[in-house]
Amino acid sequence: MLAIGTSLPFFLWHWVHFTGLLGQPGLEAVTRPGVLAGLNALVLAAAIADVLLLLWLWPQRHRPGPLPRTAVLVVLVQVTAYCGMGIAFGALTSPFTTIFISAIAVGLALLGRRPTAIGFAFAFVAITLNDWLVMAGVVPYAPALVPGTFRDGQAVAWWAHWQDFVYFFALVLGVGLMVSLFAYLDRQRELLEALSCTDGLTQLANRRHFMERLAIEQHRRERYNVPYCLVLGDADHFKRINDSFGHHTGDEVLKHIGRLLAGGLRVPGDVAARIGGEEFALLLTDCREAEVASVCERLRSQLAGQEFEIDGHRVRATMSMGAVECRGGSAEAALKAADANLYRGKHEGRDRVVVTVQEDVS
Ligand code: GH3
Ligand code: MG
Ligand code: MG
Repeated sequence: MLAIGTSLPFFLWHWVHFTGLLGQPGLEAVTRPGVLAGLNALVLAAAIADVLLLLWLWPQRHRPGPLPRTAVLVVLVQVTAYCGMGIAFGALTSPFTTIFISAIAVGLALLGRRPTAIGFAFAFVAITLNDWLVMAGVVPYAPALVPGTFRDGQAVAWWAHWQDFVYFFALVLGVGLMVSLFAYLDRQRELLEALSCTDGLTQLANRRHFMERLAIEQHRRERYNVPYCLVLGDADHFKRINDSFGHHTGDEVLKHIGRLLAGGLRVPGDVAARIGGEEFALLLTDCREAEVASVCERLRSQLAGQEFEIDGHRVRATMSMGAVECRGGSAEAALKAADANLYRGKHEGRDRVVVTVQEDVS
């Protein structure tokens, strides 16, 4: 629709401009009215086709995915009209080369390579064929123009005005396209950044992002001596949930756990992540042993007290957590200590929280 939107105003203006011009007396002296009338009919047909395409596309505007055949049709309608203009006014001596280049950029940005390549091939064949016919003397070059179009080497008013308009249109189109293209690329980059940090199933942070945040927090602790807390959590007997209710139910339980952990964070700086299959991690910034113990205990008891209704099954899940307050030592040592606490929790009967403090070992 955007690709049509960039051409339709131009076609309409073309039609208005030349319909007005065609009504004026003495036109034969400065142009060939028959060629202009033919071109105007072609451009009007393209404008009508564009309106029909817009009416057909509008109800489908929320449809995901491309419409490859419609894209080719859109390109061919625009290219036919532009080729008609290029041939009528002379592809090389008129501003249509600028329009063709802008149109290729619009096509590539909005419709992709295939429809643009088809449009380019169509335009190439049409213009080259016309050039051959011109060289063979079968048709005149730029048939809409006559010697009277120019006076003392200068274009007469109608042609000068039209050339200016085409240049201006191509300029606005090019600049508008560049601005929207950069905005689109920015959005894509932000989306990719978010995707590269997110776990697809639970929408929590993924392992990579968690490790990056842990490194930043460790750096902050070393520099400003602000302790942070690290928690590793592992769903208990998760294999049994899968075996009893199926993998899909297991996935749904993981999503519930993800929502619970995300909702249990204290401040926006805290991070909840899924770092493995049924393994989770929390990073609590500027946090002490007592606080991490109470956060973990609240999350543990919330999970243990819930019954999930999934696929007609009533499912319960529990989680063991190993937490550590990092007052000193490395991030690797903190991960090891949290893992050892988690292991202890599992060993002591699961569904429990074990917290220790890591002091500076040096
Ligand atoms: P433990 O209490 O000792 O942690 O027992 P467990 O059964 O949770 O641990 P174990 O390591 O034996 O098994 C982990 C299970 O988690 C097995 C695996 O199929 C399941 N799991 C891992 N990732 C996913 C996942 O993405 N979806 C589902 N549904 N299950 C998963
Ligand atoms: Mg595990
Ligand atoms: Mg487990």
